[in-house]
Amino acid sequence: MHGSLPTNAFRNLRHLTTNTSCHRCDATIENDMHTLCDCPSAMAIWTYFHHTYPSDFYMQNCQIWFKHHATSEARTLFIVTCFEIWQNINEDIFQNMNKDTWAFVNIIILYHYSMVHMLGPTNKHHVTRQVRLNPLPEGYIRVNVDKSSFGNPAF
Ligand SMILES: [Zn+2]
Repeated sequence: MHGSLPTNAFRNLRHLTTNTSCHRCDATIENDMHTLCDCPSAMAIWTYFHHTYPSDFYMQNCQIWFKHHATSEARTLFIVTCFEIWQNINEDIFQNMNKDTWAFVNIIILYHYSMVHMLGPTNKHHVTRQVRLNPLPEGYIRVNVDKSSFGNPAF
């Protein structure tokens, strides 16, 4: 987590929007921490998993919060939940799809279960690999897209 989620605060810094607010709760600043943790829509999800996380879950800055939980014993659930919160926001904005909290929680539980069974126990030794993009042949351009481009071909 390097403050690179294209939230409204992030997009405002890059002059892509004048709106820094959260479209879900009208908080004045939609940044990474608000989006993934502090927004009431995210809190509703984290509250369901409250037994998994410490009581100071909401009291840390974003980088510390993410690093702490992404390396904890419950990291798979944490990462799946962050991914699903971000995906749900994008589906809401670009496809006008908004799941209710229980549907959302059930999807997270299903994905978490699938991930644990695919990856095995989460206490394996970590292997760090450096990822490098190879240079493209002349005349080619690299386009990095994610699901936030749905409904907006960005041409
Ligand atoms: Zn919000």
